[in-house]
Amino acid sequence: MAAMIRLFRSSSSLISRSLSTAAASETVKSQSYPHSTSVEPKAKSVQWVFLGCPGVGKGTYASRLSTLLGVPHIATGDLVRDELKSSGPLSKQLAEIVNQGKLVSDEIILNLLSKRLESGEAKGEAGFILDGFPRTVRQAEILTEVTDIDLVVNLKLPERVLVEKCLGRRICSECGKNFNVASIDVAGENGAPRISMAPLNPPSQCISKLITRADDTEAIVKERLSIYWDKSQPVEDFYRSQGKLLEFDLPGGIPESWPKLLEVLNLDEQEHKLSAAA
Ligand SMILES: [Zn+2]
Repeated sequence: MAAMIRLFRSSSSLISRSLSTAAASETVKSQSYPHSTSVEPKAKSVQWVFLGCPGVGKGTYASRLSTLLGVPHIATGDLVRDELKSSGPLSKQLAEIVNQGKLVSDEIILNLLSKRLESGEAKGEAGFILDGFPRTVRQAEILTEVTDIDLVVNLKLPERVLVEKCLGRRICSECGKNFNVASIDVAGENGAPRISMAPLNPPSQCISKLITRADDTEAIVKERLSIYWDKSQPVEDFYRSQGKLLEFDLPGGIPESWPKLLEVLNLDEQEHKLSAAA
């Protein structure tokens, strides 16, 4: 139980709607999270953002952590899909935007997100992990009006690894499951250790039915990454200047990366499993 108390702030401070409150708390929480150093355990709450380029596995790590910590994993794409399926006030407007192939505006996303956080607070949720948002500095600025962010985890892999990973993706045309045939073993950059990732091989019944996505070519993957890096740099700088950015170089696949990630986040998997079971 001690872990829970140490980890979560009281839920009354979960959502700060006023700008002045957000600004005032900024100075209080100006601890820095320098590269590869553990996060200070004191007074830590889980109002986290996960950043990372396409293919890095951001959704997987965010989802695992949310299960471990008992907080929701909120992906803005899911919020839009849920609203479309519902008969909520924005569903008609959203359907029009999506049917016309237009981008959903920041205002609508923030509206959905703020409703989601409010209902979470009412249900007594102890925080959240945001995935895929904010993507721009403007979104990050508006987000500060909706809630406080304590920590921004930036997951990173070298470009060579990302490209190999994307080129190894296969989908079974029959059962629809995803696999990865890439066996990655790449020398680290600037003296960093080697990065190895085992393939996620398909079972024998899927082997003859594997297909590759048409946009998983080296040129398209590199283009996608370069667009992402151009857009994400200012968002990273925004959070870095507030001392909230935790850079995390993934040392490999999930078996290598998960324990290291828990270590830098100062989390003990065993302790959480025990407190959840108690
Ligand atoms: Zn299959």
